[in-house]
Amino acid sequence: MKQESGDTPMAAFIPGKRKYLFCFDEIGMSLLEKIMADIRAKDIPFEIFHFSHQESALPAWLSSQKMGCYLYIAVSRKYLYQIMCLAEAAGFSEEEVQLIGYGDKEIHLFCCRCHSITELAAAANKHAEQLCSCCGLLLTVSSHYSPLRNAYLGYPAII
Ligand SMILES: [Zn+2]
Repeated sequence: MKQESGDTPMAAFIPGKRKYLFCFDEIGMSLLEKIMADIRAKDIPFEIFHFSHQESALPAWLSSQKMGCYLYIAVSRKYLYQIMCLAEAAGFSEEEVQLIGYGDKEIHLFCCRCHSITELAAAANKHAEQLCSCCGLLLTVSSHYSPLRNAYLGYPAII
């Protein structure tokens, strides 16, 4: 049986943090329910932020947090990267954030020549060659994922 990894988002509890922060939307909330219940039961400090209700207040909320917080972000993949960037701007490192994205996974392809990003549909065949949407270079989608660019690196296809 073929298994698609990453299609069932799962949040994992990371113990030992001073305080837990939960940022979620309607569906994301249900993905964090179990962890939030555990943290409530253990009487550990936590704060929640409902992304869908107060999106514009998120940068201020993130910046107001002190050191030692652990942040869970459970939202549609459409917003996941955007929120991760806000968290980084507010001083969170990758080790302090857990991303739980759901929904269609777009594939972002980084062009090695012009450095632009081409968005491929979730269903796109990653093994097929793709044209860069900016400079038109034919690219092979590598397995090298760059968290910095939120994209797979594309190399010139050998024709
Ligand atoms: Zn290009």
